[in-house]
Amino acid sequence: GTMKPWRNFDSSKVYMADLESALQYSLKVEVGMHTRLAGDSLAALNHYINMLVKLFPGRPIVINLLQGVQAWLADTRSTKHFAGLSEVLDNTIGLQRAALPIGGNWAACQGSRPQFRQYPCSLWILFHVLSVQAANYNESAAARGEVVDQLEVLHGLRSYVKNFFSCRYCATHFEAMAAESMEDVRTLDEAILWLWSRHNRVNDRLAGALSEDPKFPKHQWPSPDLCPECHDEDNEDHVWINDAVLKFLKKHYSMDNLDYSYLE
Ligand code: FAD
Repeated sequence: GTMKPWRNFDSSKVYMADLESALQYSLKVEVGMHTRLAGDSLAALNHYINMLVKLFPGRPIVINLLQGVQAWLADTRSTKHFAGLSEVLDNTIGLQRAALPIGGNWAACQGSRPQFRQYPCSLWILFHVLSVQAANYNESAAARGEVVDQLEVLHGLRSYVKNFFSCRYCATHFEAMAAESMEDVRTLDEAILWLWSRHNRVNDRLAGALSEDPKFPKHQWPSPDLCPECHDEDNEDHVWINDAVLKFLKKHYSMDNLDYSYLE
């Protein structure tokens, strides 16, 4: 395909254009591959949408659309076929001020070639954002006496990847990591750190692989440039300062660090 002109971006920011493009691709393309939704795939979609309605720090127009999907899923009268979901996603049903942007609108997830980065990059970023939002949400929920599931976001990612992620060997790898230690996560802060450390494990495994964009080599993240206080040395071995990493993640993936450039 033709390449869009390159957009400048700041790698210390999180772009709403990437997050909305992640939603568009996941719902219209990946979920869209399932003409019929039932059983596990329907449960995974329900979990994903409920989590997004609760935690996605989106524009009102997008949140309204997600609420429309939630209502469609809750309507037990309709059989769950993608054709029906598609009408909600395209908003041919006339929801007020609701839309899912066209997508393919990458900013920090641009690749130097169309086969690199883009959607998988944005899916990681989306779930890092959600993991931080879950911890923020909990602070107000606790005051209301609401019980918060510390695994809501990680389970959301696990069931999404298992049922819908189109890179099937990625899904197999991720499920193995999840089976190994996801259930040991006890707090929302641990969930943020679990996702970060597993993402770094994936980065380590994929460094130098054919799927790597040569313009964006995989490295352990955040780099010392982004977060000097996250790094230390012990007898010349690199060590992470987990408290500093957690603080950094909560800042980097917060609403205050969202950039609204390039939106459709
Ligand atoms: P990505 O790894 O996609 O990261 C996106 C952005 O997140 C980075 O630019 C950076 O800003 C930030 N970031 C990087 N590391 C971290 C971290 N540790 N914590 C928080 N933020 C971070 N590809 C394969 O070839 N094989 C696989 O098995 C595979 N498994 C995957 C499993 C999942 C669940 C996902 C979502 C993707 C998987 N992929 C796999 C794709 C791969 O991980 C990358 O997404 C893809 O190669 C694009 O890489 P990228 O350079 O854009 O950076």
